[in-house]
Amino acid sequence: MQHSRSPMIHALFAKQTRQKLAYEAIDASPEGLETAVRGFGAAGGKGLNITVPHKHKAMQLCDALGSEAEQAGAVNTITFVTTTRLRGDNTDGIGFMRDLVVNHNQNVRGARILILGAGGAARGILPPLIEAEPADLVLANRTVGRAEAVVAKLGAKIEVCVFEDLGQKRPFDIVVNATSAGLDGRRPPFPAACLTPDSFCYDLAYSLKETPFVRWALERGARRAVQGWGMLVEQAAESFQIWRGVRPDTTAILAQLDRAAPRVNAS
Ligand code: NAP
Repeated sequence: MQHSRSPMIHALFAKQTRQKLAYEAIDASPEGLETAVRGFGAAGGKGLNITVPHKHKAMQLCDALGSEAEQAGAVNTITFVTTTRLRGDNTDGIGFMRDLVVNHNQNVRGARILILGAGGAARGILPPLIEAEPADLVLANRTVGRAEAVVAKLGAKIEVCVFEDLGQKRPFDIVVNATSAGLDGRRPPFPAACLTPDSFCYDLAYSLKETPFVRWALERGARRAVQGWGMLVEQAAESFQIWRGVRPDTTAILAQLDRAAPRVNAS
């Protein structure tokens, strides 16, 4: 939270769209979440973004949910309809798809796609991915029961496995890292066999340095490997639109961010 880039991104959106907006990071413990959210509404706050690890708990505070939040079982955007009535949305999925398909020009329809990880972020990106009709969707997670629970809730045809089983599967066109693996300095525990020289790899994590997953993918010969900066900006733009009724031009903002601090993004 201390290192959140969202205040800077929303300040750029506000400047671009000529909206008056103050957006600041608030630190809250899981036990203090409800007090922090309701206190913000009582003080006249209009909307909040919710980040790890609060996305599921935040859903329980909402009086109404958008369909994406309902499907994902997680909320990343709260809107105060009144000072006490809360609406919850999830913009992670739409932000991810926009970055993957529009900014990175990837074809999802008919593609063979692997999602690594079955936490809150994976739950957010799976519904729009399913809707885009890939040929195959495989969900691999360290804890297979968690992946099975995600798939059971979605009711879609998704194959579930642990990372070790990926070596026996055909390689994938698109590989998405939705785990926190590697961020602790250890090597990401995925078998190289899931990649071909044509694979496009997308890391939901982002950093001003190369992320462990991007390094892992490029060292194993992936065609391209990118970080989740674009998703961060696109999901923020969707939240901004929910609150302000206007969608910022994210292409201009991504270019601006690149000039300020170049993203380590591609091969
Ligand atoms: P989460 O709910 O805590 O889930 C974490 C996932 O990582 C679980 O699948 C977990 O597996 C797995 N994992 C953790 N440590 C691991 C390890 N050492 N080896 C293998 N698997 C491991 O977190 P989340 O909210 O889904 O976030 C996941 C990532 O997405 C984070 O890096 C987050 O910053 C990023 N994210 C980016 C954006 C964006 O806008 N770019 C938006 C949302 C999230 P188990 O189930 O086995 O514990």
